[in-house]
Amino acid sequence: MDFDVIDPATGEVVEKVALASVEETDAAVERARRAFPAWRAVAPGDRARLLRALADRIDAHLDELAALEVANAGHPVEQARWEAGNLRDTLHYCAGGVERLAGRQIPVAGGLDVTFHEPLGVVGVIVPWNYPMPIMGWGMAPALAAGNTVIVKPAELTPLTARRVGELALDAGLPEGVLQVLPGAGPVAGRRLVGHPDVAKIVFTGSTRVGKEIMAACAPSVKRLTLELGGKSANIVFADADLERAAAAAPAAVFDNAGQDCCARSRILVQREVHDRFLELLEPAVAAVRVGDPRDPATAMGPLISAAQRDRVASYVPDGAPVAFRGTAPDGPGFWFAPTVLAGPGADALPAWREEVFGPVVIVVPFDGEADAVRLANATPYGLSGSIWTRDVGRALRMARSVDAGNLSVNSHASVRYWTPFGGFKQSGLGRELGPDALTAFTETKNVFIATEES
Ligand code: NAD
Repeated sequence: MDFDVIDPATGEVVEKVALASVEETDAAVERARRAFPAWRAVAPGDRARLLRALADRIDAHLDELAALEVANAGHPVEQARWEAGNLRDTLHYCAGGVERLAGRQIPVAGGLDVTFHEPLGVVGVIVPWNYPMPIMGWGMAPALAAGNTVIVKPAELTPLTARRVGELALDAGLPEGVLQVLPGAGPVAGRRLVGHPDVAKIVFTGSTRVGKEIMAACAPSVKRLTLELGGKSANIVFADADLERAAAAAPAAVFDNAGQDCCARSRILVQREVHDRFLELLEPAVAAVRVGDPRDPATAMGPLISAAQRDRVASYVPDGAPVAFRGTAPDGPGFWFAPTVLAGPGADALPAWREEVFGPVVIVVPFDGEADAVRLANATPYGLSGSIWTRDVGRALRMARSVDAGNLSVNSHASVRYWTPFGGFKQSGLGRELGPDALTAFTETKNVFIATEES
């Protein structure tokens, strides 16, 4: 079956991509299974060299990959360049880990006790459409570095960059079957990867709904699983914060990637005494967000991924919703939605206050004191990220320890670095990606005791 890949900025078909059947998925798993023994046996330095060779190929094709992502996902070109660079850098970082994936020697009586980090086998990496290149990299780079073979299944909507990276991997010298990219439908190729007995681990990034289904499907064989799911993150602004900075930074924290970001700070909690002042400062900052042609390097926000996503986002701003103000968006073809700020009476009764919108919609709500801020921030089944704006170091630390989320930032909205751990509390996920332990998540620890005394 073919799938029309659409340019979200124009609504036009970019190309038709064939989706893998169950049989084709099985064949990919078989190739990965056969490639595994040789790949795990490659000397660590050589495995690292091959991953660096792929990183270098990505760097050499950075403009091409960025242009593909602009056409496929509608991402502004500068953002798309960052995304390709993130994939390159994650590969370099994980290549640096191959030779450091050392076990331990533990003191015991009567012998020697050592641990080994054994690779798992075939790993399936199932990727969403919002950040195709980075999220592909966060799964595949550590999995390959730890000696596993990998099948990446990109989202139906955004297979183009992943497919090109698969070609570059072969150019870079990765042996056949070590990294395969399999465009396919979630309920067909994705579901088959999850259910396949020869797939040892699934890394899934996507919606909480599908994540729960995958977790249940992994249970019968206790398949290893990492889940990176949805979010409803809070941006908490205290009265003692640098309000100008906090207001200037807030739009990018929720409108970057048109709000299609699992870490989007889609709830802004503002201490009551500065709530109105904060809104006054936020309005010009939102008006200044440049929404438009993703091929223009000055553009900050592009279109939504699809017409369906635009309609879903629009449903979160029903007639009569308390819209405080809006930014701009182009008319005409493409899936545009203007940045939208909801505030005032009734805002926290809207579904957009509780549910992940995954679009450029943010709600501003007042709070009274630290305990109230923690209560509101934690009143969600999600726990992915959040921000705390204050000049009081003690308060910043108290809040950071009290908010139930995996990735918090103080006086900043930064969430993701490939060298620090990333993942969610509660229904935002299971396990962590990236950071110093990235490779170990793709291994089993094996303990071996060797007796040295005659019995
Ligand atoms: P989605 O759950 O619809 O799809 C994600 C991927 O899973 C796609 O490749 C899809 O084809 C596949 N899939 C769908 N059904 C499947 C099934 N039954 N079995 C196996 N695979 C299946 O999500 P989406 O709409 O592509 O992405 C948006 C969601 O991703 C949002 O909820 C967002 O918060 C989340 N997300 C989370 C993170 C994170 O790191 N926590 C990062 C980015 C996106």
